[in-house]
Amino acid sequence: MQEKFISGVHNYCDRWCERCPFTARCIVYANEQELSEEAKDPTNPAFWENIKKSFEDMLDMLNKTMAELGIEPEEEDKQTKPDTALAAREEHIRKQSMLYATNVEHFFKQNTDIFQQKENELTEQIEEGQPVDIEHLQFFQDAVEVIRWYQFFIPAKTDRAANGLGDRDDPRQGDANGSAKIAMIALERSLGAWEVVRKHLPEKQNEIEELQHQLQHLRTDLADLFPNWRVFHRPGFDDEPEKTMRLDFNLN
Ligand code: SF4
Repeated sequence: MQEKFISGVHNYCDRWCERCPFTARCIVYANEQELSEEAKDPTNPAFWENIKKSFEDMLDMLNKTMAELGIEPEEEDKQTKPDTALAAREEHIRKQSMLYATNVEHFFKQNTDIFQQKENELTEQIEEGQPVDIEHLQFFQDAVEVIRWYQFFIPAKTDRAANGLGDRDDPRQGDANGSAKIAMIALERSLGAWEVVRKHLPEKQNEIEELQHQLQHLRTDLADLFPNWRVFHRPGFDDEPEKTMRLDFNLN
């Protein structure tokens, strides 16, 4: 009989549960559904108690894995030698990914009026009984949502991947490579989404192209640091038939 939950499916997902095809098979999602309203509220102590417990569980798992590998935590510290060239590359990629996120923030703040104007034009069209291409419009809105969702997710996962660069993890199936893979997926979806937005906002072409260039540089740097990112196997997602993959935009 098939197990209800897919082991580790939540470890390399994009945390976009409302768009995830694996909610019924994800233990994190199931646990979150059981949380009280207080435990979902960051202003409530119950929320932080729950976060603390998750970290303790993760630490337990990490200690068990290290014990299985015969590594003492102190021994691990002693074996870690600083590698300045690697540290510089880590620092660079972290900065680049954060710079992208803050530039996106700036773009949306600076162009609030344009997005508002688009909405007003649409309302007008509907009120005047003019035909509206809803599908076309939804694609645009979806693209904006994708960009916004991944904007800070990319630096978070890039940071995690960079943190694991000097580790003695499996270069193919280690955590750093898995984090690089989900960062890369988010990055590529964002690139596609920007292309959709660029076509809708020709007057913003230069600014959007600049953001696309930043993402392309980041993609090159990430692929350079994690040449094996494609071969990492994400439980569930990489077992999914290709035709059901979500949110992929056609760049052509
Ligand atoms: S695997 Fe899906 S349901 Fe589970 S945490 Fe990730 S996005 Fe949410």
